[in-house]
Amino acid sequence: MRRRETSNFKIGEVGVGSAYPVSIQSMTNTDTRNAEATLQQIGQLAEAGCQLVRVAVPDEEAAQALKQICKQSPLPVIADIHFNHRLALLAMENGVSALRINPGNIGSAQKVREVVSKAKGLGIPIRIGVNAGSLEKELLARYQHPTAEALVESAMRHVHILEELNFEQIKISLKASDVPLMIEAYRLIAQQVPYPLHLGVTEAGNAKYGTVKSAIGIGTLLAEGIGDTIRVSLTGNPLQEIPVAKQILRSLELYPKGVELISCPTCGRTQIGLEHLVEQVDQLVSNIDKPLKLAVMGCVVNGPGEAREADLGIAGGKGEGLIFRKGEIIKKVPEDQLLAAFQEELDKLL
Ligand code: SF4
Repeated sequence: MRRRETSNFKIGEVGVGSAYPVSIQSMTNTDTRNAEATLQQIGQLAEAGCQLVRVAVPDEEAAQALKQICKQSPLPVIADIHFNHRLALLAMENGVSALRINPGNIGSAQKVREVVSKAKGLGIPIRIGVNAGSLEKELLARYQHPTAEALVESAMRHVHILEELNFEQIKISLKASDVPLMIEAYRLIAQQVPYPLHLGVTEAGNAKYGTVKSAIGIGTLLAEGIGDTIRVSLTGNPLQEIPVAKQILRSLELYPKGVELISCPTCGRTQIGLEHLVEQVDQLVSNIDKPLKLAVMGCVVNGPGEAREADLGIAGGKGEGLIFRKGEIIKKVPEDQLLAAFQEELDKLL
C-alpha cells in the first residue's frame, strides 16, 4: 500500500504526514479544568499506546489548566477550541503542541491573524475540523444535506484563510457519522490539498457500533493510502479506543509493534477447549511490544498450514496439542501443558 504523499510536520515529538507512521489520537473526557484528573487519563491513554491527545477547552479556566496539563503530559496536547480566539491564544501561551480550531469561525480578520501569527511563531500546527453535524447553514441550504462536496467546501474555506496568511502546518478532518459520506469526503479532499488528514467516524456510537463503523471508515481510507492520524470515537471511556485503533492499523500492517493473534473460529473438528486457550494466550501476550504473529488453531488438519506465516502457534488435537513455528511442528504436549509449553517457546522467541 502506498501512502498518499503529504506535507509533514511535528506535533510535539510526533511526526505527522506521509513521512511518518500513521499515529493514534484520542480525546480526554474529563473536565479539562480538573488538571489532575485530565493528566491521570492522559497517562492511561499514553500507557495504552495513544500518541496524541486532544482536550476540550471550553472556557478560560480550562485554558489556564493547560499550563499544568501541558507541562506534565507524557503526550503532545492538542487544544480543541470553538469560536474563541482568546482561548486559542491562551492555550498556545500555556504550552499546547497543536490547535484544533476552524479559523473561519473565530471572528474578525484581525483575530484570525493574531491566532495564526502566534501559531506560526511557535511552530504550532492547526487542524481544521469539519463535522457533518455542524456544517454552515448556508452550505446546508445550498447542498440540502451534508454531502461530501459540502464538507470539502467548508474545509477549503478555512484552508484558504490559513493559506492566505502563508500558514502551512495544516491538518484536516472531515468527520461524519455516516461512513460512506465520510469516506467520499476524505477521498475528495485528498485530491485537492497536500496536507495530512486526520481520520475519524464521528459519533460512531458505543463499542458495539463504533468499532465496526470506525474499522470500515478509517480502514477503507487507510487501505487506499489516505490518512495520517486516526481517532476511533466510542461513547464512554476513551481508553477503549486505543486497542481498536491499534487493531485497525495492525490489520493493514501499519502498526509496527505488538502481537497479531490468529485463531480459528472452531468447528466440528475441534477437540480441545480452544476458546479458553485463546483467551489465555491473549492475556499472556497483551503487553508484548515485539511484532509477532501468533496462532491458536483447533486442529492439526488445517492448523499449522493455515497459520504457516505465524512465528509461533498451537494446533489442538484430542487431549493433546502441537506447538508449531512457521508452520513446522516442533513439539507435541498434553492439553493441560499446552499453555506452559507455548509460553516457554515464546520466551525463547522474545
Ligand atoms: Fe476447524 Fe481445524 Fe479450521 Fe479450527 S483449524 S476451524 S478446528 S478445521
